[in-house]
Amino acid sequence: TKWVYSFGGGLNEGGAGMRNLLGGKGANLAEMASIGLPVPPGFTITTEVCSAYYDNGNAYPTELAEQVASALHRVEKSVGLVFGDASAPLLVSVRSGARVSMPGMMDTVLNLGLNDETVEGLAASSKDERFAWDSYRRFIQMYGSVVMGVPHHRFEDLLEQAKHGLGVTDDTAIKASDWREIVKDYKDVVQKETGKPFPNEPQEQLWGAISAVFGSWMNPRANTYRKLHDIPANWGTAVNVQAMVFGNMGEDCATGVCFTRDPSTGENIFYGEYLVNAQGEDVVAGIRTPQPMSAGRATSDQSPMEKVLPEAYKELMRVRDILERHYRDMQDIEFTVQSNVLYMLQTRSGKRTAAAALKIAIDMAQEGLITQEEAIQRVPPGSLDQLLHPTLDPKAERNLFSRGLPASPGAAAGAIVFTAEEVEDRAAKGEDVILVRIETSPEDVHGMHAARGVLTTRGGMTSHAAVVARGMGRVCVAGAGGITVDYKAQTMTVGNVTLKGGDWITLDGGTGAVYVGKVATIPPTLSGDFSTLMGWADEVRRLRVRANAETPEDAETARRFGAEGIGLSRTEHMFFGPDRIGFVRQMIMSDDPATRKKAIDALLPFQRDDFSQIFRIMSGLPVTIRLLDPPLHEFLPHGETELEEVATALGQSVESLRARRSALSEANPMLGHRGCRLGITYPEIYTMQVRAIIEAAIAVSKETGHAIVPEIMIPLVGVKTELEVTRKAAEAEVAAVFKEQGTTLEYLIGTMIELPRAAITADQIAEVADFFSFGTNDLTQTTLGLSRDDAGSFLPYYVDHGLLPKDPFVSIDREGVGALVRMGAENGRKTKPALKLGVCGEHGGDPDSIAFFESVGLDYVSCSPFRVPVARLAAAQAAL
Ligand code: ADP
Ligand code: MG
Ligand code: MG
Repeated sequence: TKWVYSFGGGLNEGGAGMRNLLGGKGANLAEMASIGLPVPPGFTITTEVCSAYYDNGNAYPTELAEQVASALHRVEKSVGLVFGDASAPLLVSVRSGARVSMPGMMDTVLNLGLNDETVEGLAASSKDERFAWDSYRRFIQMYGSVVMGVPHHRFEDLLEQAKHGLGVTDDTAIKASDWREIVKDYKDVVQKETGKPFPNEPQEQLWGAISAVFGSWMNPRANTYRKLHDIPANWGTAVNVQAMVFGNMGEDCATGVCFTRDPSTGENIFYGEYLVNAQGEDVVAGIRTPQPMSAGRATSDQSPMEKVLPEAYKELMRVRDILERHYRDMQDIEFTVQSNVLYMLQTRSGKRTAAAALKIAIDMAQEGLITQEEAIQRVPPGSLDQLLHPTLDPKAERNLFSRGLPASPGAAAGAIVFTAEEVEDRAAKGEDVILVRIETSPEDVHGMHAARGVLTTRGGMTSHAAVVARGMGRVCVAGAGGITVDYKAQTMTVGNVTLKGGDWITLDGGTGAVYVGKVATIPPTLSGDFSTLMGWADEVRRLRVRANAETPEDAETARRFGAEGIGLSRTEHMFFGPDRIGFVRQMIMSDDPATRKKAIDALLPFQRDDFSQIFRIMSGLPVTIRLLDPPLHEFLPHGETELEEVATALGQSVESLRARRSALSEANPMLGHRGCRLGITYPEIYTMQVRAIIEAAIAVSKETGHAIVPEIMIPLVGVKTELEVTRKAAEAEVAAVFKEQGTTLEYLIGTMIELPRAAITADQIAEVADFFSFGTNDLTQTTLGLSRDDAGSFLPYYVDHGLLPKDPFVSIDREGVGALVRMGAENGRKTKPALKLGVCGEHGGDPDSIAFFESVGLDYVSCSPFRVPVARLAAAQAAL
């Protein structure tokens, strides 16, 4: 078996395509060398050796030693130095490199091969004694801590003492003779800490470092990281052994780290830092202040590489261009300059912000480096979320109060307010307020709407507060359990810090942080790039994208973000307005149909007006309106005052209403008297809603000239007969309206598929449905038997411990819930091949779920307005 692959010096046995075998670093070193870039020669010991090592009880394959020896020999020949030679020694670095870059792996050891004899040879051959001893002490420090386990600070403490004794502050001011002394002390520390002498023999050093890399693959830090990121343990790491080049040999030497474009803005400018006369990770270690690369980015007191090392800089610019053309992506590179000659030590695709990802993708497509389709694939859909909301000014000062879950992105500051009513009052006066609740319920929705942001101390990513806030595009931090809220005292407390109602806080919904006081924010910049990308995405996607919206404001946002209709308008949200809730309560609490009818008739104009507004805004795009769904339970009058108000309105005694309230309250409302069950037992409610929809559609069609085709959606159907009954009643009411108005229009009646039985019997249900909309929130609850309001106490544990791969309310459970969606779609289309199929619910805006819906062949997804761009891009990626 071939266990060792050479690179550089004219022999490249690997390449970028061999990342699995050679690790990312090794594969790209070989690739760079093979396209003619200056890479110091070396070799990669494959990831298969790592696996073999662990399979064989920490023993190496027998051929390995020989293959390493001959690869090392090749390096010696190519640079003209000999490993361990006392007069002109070859030094090497030993570098780990897994398939994906992985913190927790062994740090790089530089200058390996130095000992008390070779250091003299290096001093003589370089004619620089100081450089040789500086390299030696670095080697002992790195090898001592990384391979032998001596605490890093032991060396640093010694160095500090020495500098103090010498009266210098900068490492570069230490002379060769002083380094000699420090090296002695370092070796003593190694002996003291490990009970072993520092290894003098270069071969022993080499194998010690190689074994330390393989050993680090199974250390606890690496194991934890792998678990968190789903990296299989059998991938293994590779080891790279490479001839050293020296950035610490004088003023014409340097080392640096940079990006081929600005990773935070995406601007096409060389971005990074370098240090003259330095080695390895000095740049990131903060020993001296690194300097900028380009003169354009430098202030007058800085020394940009462009000015200080113009030749090497020019060469680096040339390499940058070659790399971007070759890899067709922004690169993150590491380099060293030795005596004005540039050497490349690493390249990989650079991490970037959402804004940079967008700009780079568009720019590269326009520069002709990548195709439009590739540009679409380059931007993670979820990251668009960050671009659509204000964010905290990175330069602003901040004072952390507590942390919760990042439930809805964006940043918002405002005064603390503890009730929805007060939020509305204050917001009406133009104040910025944050609604703080232990948890929220449908009654708080109007307050959430008026607030700048919402903070709760209980509940998870799919709690009421989180879902509603995301839907409205409100900033939300949910489940900040470290905060104690006292409604009575109007305070919230963490430890000994107490904030009162009216005090200012700032929420960062992207991180879950809660800050004391007002932190400055910066507005989103929706540049032309954003709409360019959206346009490209729209050209290739097949899935249509609609929004879930019930208020005119949401409908407008949805259109602005490119929604092609409304897939879910939840009418119950319209029932909570202060001018309506009274009638809703009367409707529920009355026990005779006549009184009920009176309350319902009072609601009709409100509903008709709601629907008219939405139809107007959507100007002819499809609008699906779901008839009343939630358990009656949620509308019951809670407090005594509310009960009295309803009693007065209905002319009944408070006593009799109290009795009715307890008769209507349910033990398990999620599976209780809701959805079409309500419409069947209280048909007046649905009849009124159907009338409001059709009257509104006729009126707005006339008014605007758009042919409006309302889609009436019946919730929670489990049995075909339920839909049959509700459909018949609805059709009768539609016919009545048509007759009254002397006109007709096209309309559809369909159903939610949100119970397993509905998915299983979808072929029967399709006989009486014009469309299906998969309500995957409820379908997840009912398939897994999991209440999303209560799952917060154990679901995170399930996800953390791998019992479930992901929160099934965030990303669809393909094998369970997804299988039912597929079955429902297939069965439905068996009956009606042209049956329109959509999905509403949180999954409609989740990129991973969207890929699944594409594979099922649904017609559209519907999601909250602020997720619409995410869904458009995800749908395009799914189609490619
Ligand atoms: P990491 O994965 O932590 O970035 P690397 O293996 O890339 O670790 O090494 C860190 C740094 O060490 C490099 O950026 C480079 O500055 C230096 N280095 C590694 N190998 C060599 C070498 N052969 N010659 C000179 N410097 C090297
Ligand atoms: Mg490192
Ligand atoms: Mg590196």
